[in-house]
Amino acid sequence: MKKILNYINGKLLEPVANKYLDNFNPATGKVYSLIPNSDEQDVEQAIAAARSAFEGWASLRNTERAEWLEKISEGIERRTAELALAESIDNGKPLWLATSVDIPRARDNFKFYSTAIRHYASESHQTAEGVINYTLRKPIGVAACISPWNLPLYLFSWKIAPALAAGNTVVAKPSEVTPMTAYLLSEICVEIGLPAGVLNIVHGLGHSTGNALISSDNIDLVSFTGGTATGAHIAKIVAPKFKKMSLELGGKNPNIIFNDCDFEAMLNTTLNSSFANQGQICLCGSRILVERGIYQKFKDAFVAKVENMKVGDPMSDDSRLGAIVSKIHYDKILSYIDLAKEEGGTILVGGNSVQLDGEHKDGWYIAPTVIEGLDRQCRVNQEEIFGPVVTIQPFDTEEEALALANSTGYGLACTIWTNDLKKAHRLGDKVDSGIIWINCWLLRDLRTPFGGMKNSGVGREGGWEALHFFTEPKNICIKYT
Ligand code: NAD
Repeated sequence: MKKILNYINGKLLEPVANKYLDNFNPATGKVYSLIPNSDEQDVEQAIAAARSAFEGWASLRNTERAEWLEKISEGIERRTAELALAESIDNGKPLWLATSVDIPRARDNFKFYSTAIRHYASESHQTAEGVINYTLRKPIGVAACISPWNLPLYLFSWKIAPALAAGNTVVAKPSEVTPMTAYLLSEICVEIGLPAGVLNIVHGLGHSTGNALISSDNIDLVSFTGGTATGAHIAKIVAPKFKKMSLELGGKNPNIIFNDCDFEAMLNTTLNSSFANQGQICLCGSRILVERGIYQKFKDAFVAKVENMKVGDPMSDDSRLGAIVSKIHYDKILSYIDLAKEEGGTILVGGNSVQLDGEHKDGWYIAPTVIEGLDRQCRVNQEEIFGPVVTIQPFDTEEEALALANSTGYGLACTIWTNDLKKAHRLGDKVDSGIIWINCWLLRDLRTPFGGMKNSGVGREGGWEALHFFTEPKNICIKYT
């Protein structure tokens, strides 16, 4: 059985205590590889390696670091097919999705920051005749980067690339649920001869390996993407040490649909924004709010399309949804469907697990599910489910739509469908959300600030925001007359 290894100080290593965890293929429900169950010793070894590599890496010219990032990007490009297959097996997502979205985006994250760092400039201010302020932006030190399982290599690289570009060294921990492409990334780093210690990848559980990493006094900053409860726990440990922290957390995103929208475009995109990656994208719209005038038309058309979405073998090109990432997560999603019934909701379509045949008979599959009739304050409309489950709710006025949209503790993403530009701008301004899409969804530009407000996080990733986060500004004022 394939054994994943840690990547520490340029080498692929067994965990010190030689303990391993099972890694499951969600499409079959079977164990198919082993993951290091790393402990504090592995984490501290990785941090020490990152610490001793820091000075050398930070003192390279930006253009030299950019070249290393380009090499990583090219390494990902060369192994696209292998990485996509690994991502699909590890996560349960359709292979076509991993091939067309996850792996190209991971490649582009490194490419993007290899060019961004070449163009990154700091500010200077002429304050008066003979007085100038200029700002240095210095790398900070050892960055701890922790990522979730839903877009494994895509989100892992979204942190590592800007951290390295800015001149930090990194200890990264991928999700224990989907470790395989992070391991393949470490193989790529070995292949291209990335200087030892610049990037270290330690595998293991959140509450042990992850916790040892964020609790260490020897790291300098933390970039985390994952659940809100985990983010709160990390903040409690890291904040009193006054270390920089970026927390990208959960969401309960509203999708606001007005009578005057372009119906067909809205319908097709809403299928995607509801169920892409089995609904396991932090940006998926899980609360669909529809203006009363087209509520029935939307409901009929949406349910008819959802009924035809195929749940199947992730390897098959016609599977629109693959498997749910883990048994724990599968049980959690099904429990929310039961809760929706208890809370008085009506299941319009789906609402059940799906059993496939043959080698997939023990895999974890759930039918795309649409629920109506739930109050805005009920748990199903307030808590993040993070699966192929959406609710639909009617509204009568723009004010009501806004109140519904803002009725949760989250504030990550929102989609608005209307052809009335003034209304779109008004709502875009007022919805509590870090990211607003108008008449589109997941149309990403890597230069834009990415992240949420309220319980969806602290800080932003993307573009200059990430480079600002991964550097310490130092302002110098000089009087020269
Ligand atoms: P999670 O919080 O359980 O785990 C995320 C990562 O944190 C994993 O690597 C895990 O091992 C680690 N971890 C867990 N406990 C830890 C601890 N005590 N100390 C240090 N590390 C710890 O989240 P998940 O289930 O892997 O991911 C799903 C969540 O991620 C959802 O809430 C989703 O909305 C969120 N998410 C947010 C974004 C965003 O950009 N805002 C993007 C993707 C996913």
